[in-house]
Amino acid sequence: MQPALRLIIFGRQGAGKGTQCTRLAAHFGIPHISTGDMLRASAATGSEFGRSVKAIMDGGGLVSDEIMEGVVRERLSMPDAVDGFLLDGYPRTQPQAEFLNSVLAPRGIDLAINLDVPEDVVFERITRRRVCESCGTIYSLGEESADSGSCAKCGGGVVQRDDDRPDSVAKRLATYVEQTEPLLSWFADQNKLVTVLGVGDPDDIATSLVEAIVAGP
Ligand code: AMP
Repeated sequence: MQPALRLIIFGRQGAGKGTQCTRLAAHFGIPHISTGDMLRASAATGSEFGRSVKAIMDGGGLVSDEIMEGVVRERLSMPDAVDGFLLDGYPRTQPQAEFLNSVLAPRGIDLAINLDVPEDVVFERITRRRVCESCGTIYSLGEESADSGSCAKCGGGVVQRDDDRPDSVAKRLATYVEQTEPLLSWFADQNKLVTVLGVGDPDDIATSLVEAIVAGP
């Protein structure tokens, strides 16, 4: 029997992880688990927990390791994650990586993927990004809906996400370099890292990712 596929994916904010994760999850038949999406869903409920999480996210900071442990432990114990998963956005710090190892012991994760896009490219991408408040469609400055502020699909307001503002983006990119990038060498030392360049045609990047995952480190 083929072992369950336990994948994690790294990449700077704006590296195109969302798009590629949807494809990879469908390709391998495993759930895409995004801690950012889970936290945004909590924030949208308006609960006390949600509001505290939203304040942290809007400021470009990281939610505490203790809170994240609860979130991740619970999600990975759900039945759909038993046969493998693609974890996106976690771990982001050394304590989180060690926690994940302990939760998944003795095997740990099978593979960490680094979707690599240079910092100047992602900064430009994110700060130009706009989103429809009603239907969630993503636009970029230069597109009619982004420039006019009115969604071509549903007429909703098209705005910049709070955490896509330049000061917040700069802070998040700096946090990535300080806290998350060192994890790449940590997984490389365990011979569990593959790196794929995330620049170019999304279809080509998706193909490269599948090839890299199948080939392994
Ligand atoms: P993302 O969509 O992965 O960029 O996550 C959006 C925001 O959620 C991040 O900027 C953090 O504030 C928070 N977040 C997501 N995952 C984590 C994590 N593993 N540890 C701490 N904070 C996280």
